Amino acid sequence: MMKAFDYLVAENLEAAAGAYAGADPNGNGNGKVALKAGGIDLLDLMKQRIETPQAILSIDRLDDLRYIRQEDDGVHIGALTTLAQMGASDLLAQRYAALHQAAADTATPQVRQRATIAGNLCQRPRCWYYRNPEFDCLKNGGDRCFVRDGENEHHAVFGGGPCHILHPSNVAPALVALNAVLVVHAAEAEPQRIDAAEFFVLPRQSMFAENVLEPGQIITEIILPAEPRHSATVEVREKQSFDWPLCTASVARLGGGWRICLGAVAPIPWLSEPAMRVVADRDITAELAAEAGEAAAQGATPLSDNGYKVDLIKVVTRRALMAAAGLGVRS
Ligand SMILES: Cc1cc2nc3c(=O)[nH]c(=O)nc-3n(C[C@H](O)[C@H](O)[C@H](O)COP(=O)(O)OP(=O)(O)OC[C@H]3O[C@@H](n4cnc5c(N)ncnc54)[C@H](O)[C@@H]3O)c2cc1C
Repeated sequence: MMKAFDYLVAENLEAAAGAYAGADPNGNGNGKVALKAGGIDLLDLMKQRIETPQAILSIDRLDDLRYIRQEDDGVHIGALTTLAQMGASDLLAQRYAALHQAAADTATPQVRQRATIAGNLCQRPRCWYYRNPEFDCLKNGGDRCFVRDGENEHHAVFGGGPCHILHPSNVAPALVALNAVLVVHAAEAEPQRIDAAEFFVLPRQSMFAENVLEPGQIITEIILPAEPRHSATVEVREKQSFDWPLCTASVARLGGGWRICLGAVAPIPWLSEPAMRVVADRDITAELAAEAGEAAAQGATPLSDNGYKVDLIKVVTRRALMAAAGLGVRS
C-alpha cells in the first residue's frame, strides 16, 4: 500500500522553488518534498516504497518550461520539454542528431508523451537490487552490494564499485557528448550553470545521489552551446519495441574534436578518453572508427555476466562514428 502524501501543485517557478527549498532531491524522501515532472519514475519509486515523501510538488503545470528555441548562444530546451516534443523537433533532428535520436528512441510513445528531459536525467538507477526494498543494498543504506556475487548482466563495466549501478538516462550521454549545460534554479539564489559532463557523480563520490543537485535545486533549462559538425547516437537493445539499452554511444564533432560518450556501461554517462584520443579531430574512416571502438573498451572490468558489454562498446562506438560521418547506417 502506498503511504499517504500531500499533493502540491506549483503555478510558477518562483512558487515551485519556494516550496521545494530545503528538500533533498536524492534522499529517500521520507518526510520530504519530492519534485514531480512527468511522474513516470517518481511514482514507480513510490509504489516500490523506495521513495516515501510526505509531499509531492508537481511542476507539471509550468508550461513556460516547455520549449526548444534558438538563441544567440545556442539552442535552449526547457526542462519540462517532453521526449516526444524533442523527437518531433526538426531543429534537433537537423542540427543535434545525437540528442534527437536518443530522445526519439527512448521507451514507448506513451512514456515519451509524459517524460521530461529533466526527469529523464534525474531518474534513479534501475538496478534490481536497489529497486527491491527486500535488498538492503549500499544504496538503500545497507552494508553490501549484491551485484558482485549476484545477477549482474545489467550492471557497470566502468567506474563501478562499491556499487555497480548503470546510469539509466538515454539523453544523458548525448548531452555530455554535445557539451551541454544545465541551468539550475533555487529559491533566493542566482541561477547556476552546470556542465552536463560535471552533473553526474559516481557512487564512490556519493552513494545516495547520482548528481550534484543540492537541496531545493530545480533544473529549468538545458543549453546546447555549440552546433556540432556531425553527431549521432547508436544503441543496442535486447528487444527493439521498448527497453533500456544494453549499450549506447553518443558522438559529436565539436570545435575541439570528437566527443564520445558511452551509455549503459557505468554509473554515469561515460566519456571515453581513450577513444577520443584515438579520433581527436580527424575525419572518420571505417578503420579509424574500428580503432576508436577498440580504444573505447579499454579499461573495462566486466563482472561475471556482463562481459558482452565490452563487445557492444566496440560495436556502438564504431557505428556511431560511422553514422555521424555519414558512412553507415545507425542500427
Ligand atoms: C516501459 C518503460 C521504458 C523505459 N525505457 C527507458 C529508456 O529506454 N531510456 C530512458 O532513458 N528511460 C526509460 N524509461 C524511463 C523514463 O524515460 C523516465 O522515467 C522518465 O524520463 C522520467 O521523466 P519524468 O518527467 O516522468 O520524471 P519524474 O518521474 O517526474 O521525475 C524523475 C526524477 O527527476 C526529478 N526531477 C524531475 N524534474 C526535475 C527538475 N526539473 N529538476 C530537478 N529534478 C527533477 C524528480 O524529483 C525525480 O527524482 C522507461 C520507462 C518505462 C516506464
